[in-house]
Amino acid sequence: PRVGADRALKRVTESYWRGEATTADLHATAARVRRENWEALRSAGIDEVPCNDFSFYDHVLDTAVLVGAIPPRHAGPADDDESAVRRYFGMARGTDGASPLEMTKWFDTNYHYLVPEIGPDTDFVLDPRKPVSELAEALDLGLDARPVLLGPITFLLLSKPAPGAPEGFAPISRLDDLLDVYAELLATLRGAGARWVQLDEPALVLDQPEEVLAATARAYERLGAVSHRPQLLIATYFDTVGAALPVLRNAPVEGLALDFTGPARSNLDALAAGGGLPGKRLIAGVVDGRNVWKNDLQASLSTLGRLQGFADVVVAPSCSLLHVPLDLALERQLDPQIARWLAFARQKVDETVTLARGMTGGPEAIRSELAANRADLASRASAPMTRNAAVRDRVAGVTPADLRRSTAYAARATAQAARLALPPLPTTTIGSFPQTKALREARAALPTGALAPEDYRARIGAEINRVVGIQEAAGLDVLVHGEPERNDMVQYFAERLTGFLTTRHGWVQSFGTRYVRPPVIAGDVSRPGPMTVDWASFAQGLTDRPVKGMLTGPVTMLSWSYVRDDQPLGDTARQVALALRDEVADLEAAGLAIIQVDEPALREGLPLRAAARPDYLRWATEAFRLATSGVRDDTQIHTHMCYAEFGDVLDAIVALDADVISLEAARSDMAVVRELADADYPAAVGPGVYDIHSPRVPDTAEVVALLDRALEHLPAERVWVNPDCGLKTRREDEVIPALAHMVEAARQARSRIAAAG
Ligand code: GLN
Ligand code: ZN
Repeated sequence: PRVGADRALKRVTESYWRGEATTADLHATAARVRRENWEALRSAGIDEVPCNDFSFYDHVLDTAVLVGAIPPRHAGPADDDESAVRRYFGMARGTDGASPLEMTKWFDTNYHYLVPEIGPDTDFVLDPRKPVSELAEALDLGLDARPVLLGPITFLLLSKPAPGAPEGFAPISRLDDLLDVYAELLATLRGAGARWVQLDEPALVLDQPEEVLAATARAYERLGAVSHRPQLLIATYFDTVGAALPVLRNAPVEGLALDFTGPARSNLDALAAGGGLPGKRLIAGVVDGRNVWKNDLQASLSTLGRLQGFADVVVAPSCSLLHVPLDLALERQLDPQIARWLAFARQKVDETVTLARGMTGGPEAIRSELAANRADLASRASAPMTRNAAVRDRVAGVTPADLRRSTAYAARATAQAARLALPPLPTTTIGSFPQTKALREARAALPTGALAPEDYRARIGAEINRVVGIQEAAGLDVLVHGEPERNDMVQYFAERLTGFLTTRHGWVQSFGTRYVRPPVIAGDVSRPGPMTVDWASFAQGLTDRPVKGMLTGPVTMLSWSYVRDDQPLGDTARQVALALRDEVADLEAAGLAIIQVDEPALREGLPLRAAARPDYLRWATEAFRLATSGVRDDTQIHTHMCYAEFGDVLDAIVALDADVISLEAARSDMAVVRELADADYPAAVGPGVYDIHSPRVPDTAEVVALLDRALEHLPAERVWVNPDCGLKTRREDEVIPALAHMVEAARQARSRIAAAG
């Protein structure tokens, strides 16, 4: 984890953004975090440490800067450190004059990267300052350090065509020019003392067409031929390497890193079938970097034993440890009987070292660790928490009728229109309102007793009242309560459902300085009582306009938690869906006419390999329908999704059978609207017309233009007007004018439509 102990990097970065910390403060904290991470690895017994894995915001953005892929709107001086840092954060967050890079999910994780923009004229120029100086820091500490770079193939495949690039232009067509820069970089790093350089190519675990495999072969042919280069290691992770394996095996590089966990376990057979990796070093990822379960040391040892039969093996985690929390030892509140099932980053490092000892010294060398590990795993398998008979019976009793609404969309739409009486192009928001420091402090003060429960409730009630007032004043049609009582959209529910564990310090980077604490689904899931009904009905009681009930969907609950690895995901999803179904029923009974069930993670949960997707999409859409289909026709179900390319899940979006979907669209210029129209999406759509990822306040004309784009593809009676996502990361002084512009844009569009008859 890059953030460091006590989230030091987040603190200093945000303080820099507020104009308090200086660039020097920023660098000092960053250097300390890097040093502490390296020292921790060294003292755990790791032989070779990564460097350049640090980032102030995102490693894909770092790579864009490294190769000079700076969009012209962000061009500006960057020779001195001040201006380089300013330009960097400008690309990430936008500036007054220039929108930021688009942000999207990193493979199937909840980490977001910034999408580089590459055009025919992008002038690749090497700026090696970051990897070179971080290498120097590590070498100064006497470490054997290996710079980690995003590989050229993955970098280009994750990029998008720059604005203005000709139709059909593909960034990968710039490979040869980019390779010039990588070749120069490799020589530079060798000159700076790197023995090995790691090139991450996770894009190779996706189903790539023949041309990409050929381009990969050509790229590494070229980089392998650089004279005076470090030894090269190509790393893939998150899934099987598949058809890219022969390409990598034949590449003139000295090492490969492969994942042998989860769905990637079959890399083992593929490797064995292909005759191993003669002459290459194999970094064997046997410690799962994507989950928090304790490693099965015995099983990993046997994997390593087999691998040793055909390669020179080095033991490692399966991927960067960015995706797990830092240290389980900080979670002192966890029941020790449950904590013994878990491993966070520090513990995974220890497991890696233990396995290496077991691999070289034989099982006797780690006899006591093996015995303790066996007992820990057995205690989990036999714990009552992991098998609740009532939950299991209810899941087994789900019928096909429970999985769909009794009436088709058109008839429901009529019933809902009659009940809700909304204007055309209704305006709404996605749920959360700005989360102030005072609110966070109030939430934190409740469990410690520093704030009495009745004072806390008064505080939240006042906030909801205020937020309802803001929305009425802004002229919004469908209101929200603002979610002030929620720390996080998943954690809030996890704290109210059985089977979920939550952590105190388990922060994991989502994007930039935004960190989340994913809960752990450790046991069977059920709902002891209503979770959201009080505040939802309180809010509805404050206004005549409809207020949306606000829930997090089953797929997102799973995607943003660490999931059980001892039963199929679909089974866990059904348990969560049944708990939500009861909540939906309670909200409806309390008089809420609209219930939004957010599924922002539907797309990211999609398995990376196409072969595994149909099964996922089946259980994922079924779980959503199980949660939402118990309502009356005139109760309107909304869903919300964000930050993703939707192309691969359009059919699933249709299959959710929601009445209204709001989606992220502003940064990608409404592309999703056309896709939905092309897929004959039958229901209503609220494409985001206000990019909430940036502090910029859009003006009315800008919103009108986006709305017009949407109306080119969708009939006005099925269009809603809303921001891209919740407003909780924004400031109130940005949100209030932005919502006013949004409402005004909707009014203008309405009168134009009315005038046109
Ligand atoms: N209702 C949530 C909010 O407004 C949705 C957040 C999300 O999609 N990530 O914050
Ligand atoms: Zn969202």
